[in-house]
Amino acid sequence: MVESTQCSVVLQSLRGRWHGELISPGNEGYDAARKVWNGAISKQPAIIAYCADTTDVVQALQFARSQCLQVAVRSGGHSLSGQSTCNGGVVIDLSRLKGIRVHPRQRMACAEAGLTLGEFVRATQTWGLATTTGTVAGTGLAGLTLGGGLGWLMGAYGLTIDNLCSVQLVTAEGRILRASITEEAELFWGVRGGGGNFGIVTAFEFQLHPVGPVLAGKVIYPLAQARSVLRCYREYTSSLPDELTAYASLLTTSDGVPAIAITLCYCGSLEEGERLVKPVRTFGTPIADFIRPMSYLKLLTRADAGAPRGRSYYEKARMLKHLNDEAVEAFVECGARCTSPFSCVLIQHVHGAASRIDPSQTAFALREEGFVISIVAAWDDGAADQHIAWTDKCWLALEPYSSSGVYVNFLGDEEEGQVRAAYGANHERLVTLKNRYDPTNCFALNQNITPTITERKNLA
Ligand code: FAD
Repeated sequence: MVESTQCSVVLQSLRGRWHGELISPGNEGYDAARKVWNGAISKQPAIIAYCADTTDVVQALQFARSQCLQVAVRSGGHSLSGQSTCNGGVVIDLSRLKGIRVHPRQRMACAEAGLTLGEFVRATQTWGLATTTGTVAGTGLAGLTLGGGLGWLMGAYGLTIDNLCSVQLVTAEGRILRASITEEAELFWGVRGGGGNFGIVTAFEFQLHPVGPVLAGKVIYPLAQARSVLRCYREYTSSLPDELTAYASLLTTSDGVPAIAITLCYCGSLEEGERLVKPVRTFGTPIADFIRPMSYLKLLTRADAGAPRGRSYYEKARMLKHLNDEAVEAFVECGARCTSPFSCVLIQHVHGAASRIDPSQTAFALREEGFVISIVAAWDDGAADQHIAWTDKCWLALEPYSSSGVYVNFLGDEEEGQVRAAYGANHERLVTLKNRYDPTNCFALNQNITPTITERKNLA
């Protein structure tokens, strides 16, 4: 389509008005530009539109729509299933929008959509401030925020969206809107968990909190102790203060030892933290103890090494309300059958402030305390089949213990039923919002809330 004469003319005119960089097949740098974080994804977009400002975003969108080209929106490029790229369409890339202003007195930050979590936290920590983010510095702030945002500070401060005060967004029609509690309030409700369904967000405004050095890191036990360690973890997480969040993971250490790790972060006083983390050191006989005081930024950047760009990944996720003994057995089995030293099963405890918000208050509906499970296969070389089969098998084995609904940022290319389940009672309200802001489903490459307005029009 892009090769047609009419399209070339429109593209030529776009180039003349463009502030950033436009890359098409045949241009230098195309191969690097089309790649995303997950090396297993290989797509060939017709155009990669690196936006320099909001005007570029509007122009790219108008160009794509005028040519009936598919739109993919990319910020940090960390979508595991590759939803931020496409074949033959336009990738609207915001990764060069890196502006950030911190207002220390108001404890607020205005952040552009191209920041990674590490870049965002580096700026806020200059003032001793932070808010809930994901756990790996290289992840994009935009995609993570729009889906919800689970992370180390969620017990104390809620999800990332619970700290969101406003967004600037480009609608499917190319209008630039600001949404907050008082402006476009329904849209603001929807973007807090509704992903990229309603428009392209170019900037976010966040509430920040004082976050000094945290007590954080992991204690590692051999996999042989996984059963008892997981039972201790279950007991431990049943009564944690909001300031302490703990994850369990079945993994292989850098020395090649199959293991189970408890990784945690306490954001209160270091003295109290030492007392609270003590039990974790005696869940079994540890082979390593890396719990130390460190900056929140360091905690995030240290995690980058475990998730390098370009490696191949495949993920499936679940939500468990309880870790009963049968579920523990299933986890132990998953750890034992792991097919790659880079793969892991991550058990993330969601609790505290994140679970005290009424599910109807934001689009993100999964507010009950529980465990979000990510089964992530990762490999560098060779065939994918055995690693994918391992993930699928673990996922099936956990089915009997799972509740319905999975966090949208951990969903892959799933059928619509999974998206409905993720939003539960909020789904219908989201469809109404989608009908209003994106009735033709221009923003379809996401955990899609399918509009129904076109169907209704056809019926009339
Ligand atoms: P991209 O791949 O750029 O975009 C993903 C999707 O988000 C796009 O398809 C689009 O629909 C939407 N989108 C992106 N930018 C915009 C925008 N500006 N406007 C509108 N829509 C947009 N999640 C957590 O909650 N907590 C974690 O701790 C966590 N850790 C992770 C660690 C790793 C290594 C990875 C790979 C993922 C992790 N995630 C975590 C999941 C993460 O939240 C999602 O992958 C998220 O989509 C990443 O955001 P991104 O900007 O990098 O995504």
